[in-house]
Amino acid sequence: MESALKGLKTELEGELYWDDMLRKLYATDASAYREMPLAVAIPKSKNDLRALITFASTNNTSLIPRTAGTSLAGQVVGGGIVVDVSKHFKNVLEVNEKDNWVNVQPGVIRDDLNRHLKPYGLYFGPETSTANRAMIGGM
Ligand SMILES: Cc1cc2nc3c(=O)[nH]c(=O)nc-3n(C[C@H](O)[C@H](O)[C@H](O)COP(=O)(O)OP(=O)(O)OC[C@H]3O[C@@H](n4cnc5c(N)ncnc54)[C@H](O)[C@@H]3O)c2cc1C
Repeated sequence: MESALKGLKTELEGELYWDDMLRKLYATDASAYREMPLAVAIPKSKNDLRALITFASTNNTSLIPRTAGTSLAGQVVGGGIVVDVSKHFKNVLEVNEKDNWVNVQPGVIRDDLNRHLKPYGLYFGPETSTANRAMIGGM
């Protein structure tokens, strides 16, 4: 698997780690669960996401999308590749005032989204107590 991961790393614009330290850091979320992932990816582009999906299906492993990691039941923990989209997928892409919708990337923090929407008189409802951290992908 290590040589396959090395090959994947050269394909990605973003980052890929499989050293012990990064795997330990991503082995848990806000829950009590812990499992060492195979690797940790920090994708930078849609092409990176495509490459990760292809890699997972050809190498019979799984992808675990992760945003803020505040889920409480081990949702972001597993033996596959943790894909952290909180670093590079943070943009609000479009606000449609007329039809009341917004197009966002998954790493947008809930409270940041509502600050962005305030001038339009819009508000995104789910009110988790982690709203200053939790991101739309995870919500
Ligand atoms: C102290 C505390 C208080 C909390 N209070 C509340 C509360 O009041 N109400 C409430 O509802 N929850 C609460 N939670 C739970 C948690 O904060 C929410 O579930 C939050 O919405 C998770 O967002 P996240 O960005 O941390 O997601 P993560 O934990 O990173 O991910 C959650 C799930 O979404 C998936 N995911 C992430 N990104 C993507 C993506 N791009 N595509 C597909 N799937 C994706 C992950 O794989 C995982 O299954 C609390 C948690 C803590 C620690």
